[in-house]
Amino acid sequence: MTNCIFCGIISGEIPSHKIYEDSNVVAFLDINPVKDGHTLIVPKVHAENLLESGPEVSQMLMETVQKISPAIKKIVAAEGFNVVTNIGAAAGQTVHHTHVHIIPRHEGDGLALWPQMKTDHEALGETAKKVSDLL
Ligand code: 5GP
Ligand code: ZN
Repeated sequence: MTNCIFCGIISGEIPSHKIYEDSNVVAFLDINPVKDGHTLIVPKVHAENLLESGPEVSQMLMETVQKISPAIKKIVAAEGFNVVTNIGAAAGQTVHHTHVHIIPRHEGDGLALWPQMKTDHEALGETAKKVSDLL
């Protein structure tokens, strides 16, 4: 798609530090890494986000996470990873081409995730029922 940064990286028009490529996906280092080794995996077929990409692409992306994470782990001595995909601007998605982040983590690295609410079982039950009724 024109004007898509990740399509430009896939085609080679935009330079990147690629670490893996096959016929379906490309993995390269994030230009503004959260941590050393922060990697993005993108499918070669453009779609807005993971929900638009469909199940085959989800499988390819997760297979690629499993394939390349051990090498990242070795190189940056990662003790864990956050594997994340942002869907929609409200969730922090800034590049609207499906991608998965692999963010290496180390004990005590000081990165915070998000705050959590106190448990309200009544509210949880209502939400669970409403969602499951739609499925
Ligand atoms: P999002 O916030 O959409 O989930 O993540 C997009 C990521 O793409 C960001 O972490 C950002 O640093 C990265 N990014 C944006 N533009 C480029 C680029 O031109 N090259 C590379 N390698 N990463 C990029
Ligand atoms: Zn694209």
